[in-house]
Amino acid sequence: MKVKEELKSNGLKYTKQRADVLHVLKSSEIPLTINQIRDELQIEMDLSTIYRILDAFEAKHLVNKTVPIEPSMSLYDYNRDIHKHHLTCTECGIIIVIESCPLGNYEKQVQEKTGYIIERHQLELYGLCPRCQRSN
Ligand SMILES: [Zn+2]
Ligand SMILES: [Zn+2]
Repeated sequence: MKVKEELKSNGLKYTKQRADVLHVLKSSEIPLTINQIRDELQIEMDLSTIYRILDAFEAKHLVNKTVPIEPSMSLYDYNRDIHKHHLTCTECGIIIVIESCPLGNYEKQVQEKTGYIIERHQLELYGLCPRCQRSN
């Protein structure tokens, strides 16, 4: 779907800025911090504008926001409806995507125990990547 239609079908008014931010998120294979998003934009925007756009996207579930240890390092990820987890290197910050998820059964158990309908979960993994282990 073109970003313009995608904004519309999610009840968001089309603006060049929104389209630009959405395009950056869609083009990225990995989640991005707000600074990384700003660097990729075609149009110059200040961070508060980008935050506002991302909040609107998040409210419409267009993007997933993950808040790691540092809130300023929040990651934004275009919601591709593929369930996955991230593994972040605590040294160099590189992120890899883990597509398998072991939590399906766990969700079922929690659901049975609590009577909730579990909609989603987030799981972030942190560690030292092989390269950073070698340079230590
Ligand atoms: Zn590393
Ligand atoms: Zn999972």
